[in-house]
Amino acid sequence: MSKWKLRSCGTAAAVLGLSVNPSHAQTAPDHPAVTVQGRTYTPRSILARNMGAPEDQTTAFPPHKIIGNIYYVGTRTLSSFLVVTPQGNILIDSTYERNVRTIEKSVQQLGFKFSDIKILLGSHAHGDHQEGDALVKELTGAQVMAMAEDVPALEAMKPGGKPHPIDKVLHDGESVTLGDTTLVAHLTAGHTRGCTTWTTEVQEAGKTYDVVINCSLRSPTMLTQAIVDEFNRSFKVVRTIPCDVPLGDHPAQYGMTEKYAKVRSGGPNPFIDPAGCHVEADIEEAMFRAILAEQQGAGKRSAQ
Ligand SMILES: [Zn+2]
Repeated sequence: MSKWKLRSCGTAAAVLGLSVNPSHAQTAPDHPAVTVQGRTYTPRSILARNMGAPEDQTTAFPPHKIIGNIYYVGTRTLSSFLVVTPQGNILIDSTYERNVRTIEKSVQQLGFKFSDIKILLGSHAHGDHQEGDALVKELTGAQVMAMAEDVPALEAMKPGGKPHPIDKVLHDGESVTLGDTTLVAHLTAGHTRGCTTWTTEVQEAGKTYDVVINCSLRSPTMLTQAIVDEFNRSFKVVRTIPCDVPLGDHPAQYGMTEKYAKVRSGGPNPFIDPAGCHVEADIEEAMFRAILAEQQGAGKRSAQ
């Protein structure tokens, strides 16, 4: 197992336990458990919800328009978003390198050209979200932009030994404009040092909507003081960002499958969901606080 694979959202052991080798599934304890809006979550259940089975990570979900000029081109469990402008397009998250051709096909199915991707952005420096950056750049010539705090982790991500392309380093609050579209990069660190939540405004049927492409807020099982500080700040930040359309780097974070089923049955756009804007943050903050409490309790016990 190479180094960069260990940096994916699911650790190698957890993925192994989840889906490849059930006999090892229960070797690590799975706690704490938290209940949010009547549903109970554990660290392992959140990971399973996010990642699904190996084939879910690599099988295209039907590509579809979300709202305005924003489209979904990812797999069943790894999000990739296409933002279409008259001056070319922006891709957010290349996911695994082995998914890049699948994403290309989804872009084409929607009637767009993969080569029209001019800018490649990312949610965060884990292999399941940004391992394919070098290949996307090779195929499209896109400019790759990354949040400064994630640059070291991205530079360590070298599928097949290819260096990770970074053409422009971004900072918290900086915006990226192409054609008539501006995306703002918000640093929401914790899951990675440079975890980036992207926001933009879209127009649909004469109305303007705030779209928020959330970065994962999933806590690691061991918290350092630096990570605690980052999460404390990020949980506040995400609750102040104006939001009508919540999206996320894993589709389960915003109920994509259920919402997509509603698109197909007609009616109002189900992706417009202001009430759902903070559900994921509520789940992840409850889990973060529970993990922190456990860790602090264990620290106190060992100090006695
Ligand atoms: Zn991750």
